Amino acid sequence: MLDLSIAAARAALRAREFSAAELTQAHLAAIAALNPRLNAYITVTPEHAQAQAKAADAALARGEHGALTGIPIAIKDLFCTAGVRTTAASRILDPFVPPYESTVSANLRRDGAVMLGKANLDEFAMGSSNMTSAYGPVANPWSRRGDNRPLVPGGSSGGSAAAVAARIAMGATGTDTGGSIRQPASFCGVAGIKPTYGRCSRWGIVAFASSLDQAGPFARTVEDCAILLGSMAGHDAKDSTSADVPVPDFAAACARGVAGLRIGVPQEYRSDGMAPEIEALWQQGIAWLRDAGAEIVDVSLPHTKYALATYYIVAPAEASSNLARYDGVRFGLRTDGEDLVALYENTRAAGFGAEVRRRIMIGTYVLSAGYYDAYYLRAQKLRALILRDFTEAFRTCDALLTPTAPSAAFGQGEKMDDPVTMYLNDVFTVPANLAGIPGLSVPAGLDGQGLPLGLQILGRPFDEETVFAVGATLERAAGFDARPAVCAGA
Ligand code: GLN
Repeated sequence: MLDLSIAAARAALRAREFSAAELTQAHLAAIAALNPRLNAYITVTPEHAQAQAKAADAALARGEHGALTGIPIAIKDLFCTAGVRTTAASRILDPFVPPYESTVSANLRRDGAVMLGKANLDEFAMGSSNMTSAYGPVANPWSRRGDNRPLVPGGSSGGSAAAVAARIAMGATGTDTGGSIRQPASFCGVAGIKPTYGRCSRWGIVAFASSLDQAGPFARTVEDCAILLGSMAGHDAKDSTSADVPVPDFAAACARGVAGLRIGVPQEYRSDGMAPEIEALWQQGIAWLRDAGAEIVDVSLPHTKYALATYYIVAPAEASSNLARYDGVRFGLRTDGEDLVALYENTRAAGFGAEVRRRIMIGTYVLSAGYYDAYYLRAQKLRALILRDFTEAFRTCDALLTPTAPSAAFGQGEKMDDPVTMYLNDVFTVPANLAGIPGLSVPAGLDGQGLPLGLQILGRPFDEETVFAVGATLERAAGFDARPAVCAGA
């Protein structure tokens, strides 16, 4: 049961081969067994899950079902969930029990999904390793062959990716500001998509960098991601940046194939220091798509080399503004002092971890009067040029193929001394956020140490259908069926 795809479990539930209660119970038992090792969930919500599963069984018995009736999933602990503690993996929100539900999680619930719990993440989604969570690191369910030292699951949605890979959730929500869905998907051997900016409502998601943040799903198959996204997406009057466009049948697009499509290979993504295994997998992906009938074209995205620097100005700038609200007065933690300023200072010093403080300081600096033009304004100009690169490229191709990340999962504690080394993880993922375009990571192979590697497909704004078509084709060609060392199910 735990190994099934969402599509297969959905069919089995409808055929009454097993009940939603049984499926949920199997997941809760697997969480109890594996979560102490993985720390993928910050909060497990068995009562909620059991009540939702019971309601799902009642609906199924009546022959009424939504797209996800009875499917157990994890919700990244950055989405507000009514009556369930929401931490953003930060001490500063402790204790915060939202009185409202995020639109994305409400949409999933509307379609019958069962919430198993809240998944771990980097504090305020700032990180690429899940090491910055105030609730402790997440262990990647995969390990190197013959070496069981714990590896990171990637970040920031590391708990979501690890839970799906270890079969302790059938799918999960994530958010992606600079790669936080795609990079952990690659590190954990699962699929994950960041849709077009505006495709999913941001309402009720704890904000990191509002012009970049976008919600999306993780699952073990591309089709399952399409099914989840179909429920998550849609216009929401409560988010002025949510797009009023129809939600197509993403799952149907997975069967389209790539015959006649033009796939661009951006030359600037071929950095000199690229690991040979990553380069080889990329070439393999190109060959798979060519064999499936796509035409491969070389394209140029000349401003790629500025993307990481641009991102690490824009994202901290917006974060410093968004995080100003955590002042000890309105939410969570409060550490008193002799006056109001001392209250702010004491609360923020006690509540924020080192990486979050670093972002606030960088963001405040680049927005300050003397440096605004030199940093923030220039970054905004570069952002426009990066978007223009993609717009130009999509004149000659329908989608782009790149590696998702420059390496496989690394060890817990590695890359922690130098923030720039950590930021380099995001080199292939941040351009899509700056441009607002969709990006999907598909597990495509294992490296020499037995760790999963992903390939990334980027598409035109609001053309997730082509992205899914290309992703499903790669998935079929790759036939990725390896399982992590720590894994429930068969
Ligand atoms: N790793 C990137 C960062 O640290 C991206 C995080 C994200 O997408 N939320 O900012």
